Amino acid sequence: MIAPESETCDVLIVGGGPGGSSCARGLRDSGLDVLVMDKATFPRDKVCAGWITPPVVDLLDLDLDDYKREHALQPITRFRTGIIGGPAIETEYDKTVSYGIRRCEFDDYLLKRCGARTQLGSPLKTMERSENGWLINGSLQAKLIVGAGGHFCPVARRLNQANPSEKSVVLAQETEFELTPEQQSLCRVKPDTPELYFCRDLKGYGWCFLKDGFLNVGIGREGEKQLSAVRDEFTDYLDREGRVPKEILGKFKGHAYRLYGLQKRTIIDDSVLLVGDAIGMASPQSGEGIRPAIETGLIAADMIRDCQRDYSKARLGTYQEKVFDRFGEWSDHPEASFIPAAFRQFLGRRLMSTQWFTRMVLLDRWFLQQHLLPLVHG
Ligand SMILES: Cc1cc2nc3c(=O)[nH]c(=O)nc-3n(C[C@H](O)[C@H](O)[C@H](O)COP(=O)(O)OP(=O)(O)OC[C@H]3O[C@@H](n4cnc5c(N)ncnc54)[C@H](O)[C@@H]3O)c2cc1C
Repeated sequence: MIAPESETCDVLIVGGGPGGSSCARGLRDSGLDVLVMDKATFPRDKVCAGWITPPVVDLLDLDLDDYKREHALQPITRFRTGIIGGPAIETEYDKTVSYGIRRCEFDDYLLKRCGARTQLGSPLKTMERSENGWLINGSLQAKLIVGAGGHFCPVARRLNQANPSEKSVVLAQETEFELTPEQQSLCRVKPDTPELYFCRDLKGYGWCFLKDGFLNVGIGREGEKQLSAVRDEFTDYLDREGRVPKEILGKFKGHAYRLYGLQKRTIIDDSVLLVGDAIGMASPQSGEGIRPAIETGLIAADMIRDCQRDYSKARLGTYQEKVFDRFGEWSDHPEASFIPAAFRQFLGRRLMSTQWFTRMVLLDRWFLQQHLLPLVHG
């Protein structure tokens, strides 16, 4: 039953991260009443290294001069890479190939400019089918729900009740804090040179990233239950090498994300679809999840515009087809992982110490994905 004072909207976007705010922005001027609901009040933190590639800047039409006036924006022109415990090499580019941002600022900026109504500090607790779509938390009526609630999205959980397996999940820990001048003098991490160090079995990697005076150190691994032990090995290595003294590191926070393609997921149903981490869109090789979250948000917005208010599962099927066109079907990635299994077994560590492989494959192809054509949308 709908409470008499119930609020309504056409499209309810659950989650105001990059996936949700991009979908909302894509629906500006569509004539649809769009509401973004998030359990957090913004600015909010998101456990993330905060590395974005140039296609993200293009997809978002980000005015970098405007953005950097009030927010951290760190251009990246080099990388330092290696194996934890081993030697490292540097790879230099003659242009900016990525940027560092702080997620607390970036997500807030994107949400504020998306043009939709927002309801913040307001978690989705219940969703029930109703005559015209959905009844949310017993009082909000929505015709379509976009599940953009990240890895723990309640909408995604409802759609994937039958298959809740944690296969393909990467567990990660990270700490980010502003360095004092004294701490900065003890650190050898350079702002334009993020550092990436792979676990010896190549099942994950750690990073150090200095962004406008904020140091971000973290590590992520596939299917790892005991991440703290691996993290300690990593931070001991950074300390020994004089990169980052262990004692300055703050408390680590944990989070998780799913690599795209390893496990079939339900992403549409009648009057509901998922975007971003709610699907599990992170790149199998690098863990990059911001760009795919934005891309699925924009693809969803195009689709919602085309639907002409018919949100049946059959009509929303086009969205799934477009996601598959762009990212491949689930079966395209049977061995999805940071690093393909065959490579891990035979060549991995040796090749990663060569300049050629590090530039052409590890960085250009896996991390910067320079071979990917821009998304056509709008
Ligand atoms: C340690 C770590 C490092 C990473 N580093 C990078 C990186 O450097 N570059 C990169 O591209 N990707 C990185 N990623 C991945 C990236 O953070 C995600 O892929 C990206 O944030 C996905 O965006 P999203 O909008 O789908 O979800 P999110 O950014 O997670 O946003 C989801 C939103 O939903 C809200 N929400 C959740 N539950 C509810 C609810 N019940 N009701 C209402 N709202 C709810 C949350 O508060 C949140 O604001 C990293 C991930 C981790 C864990």
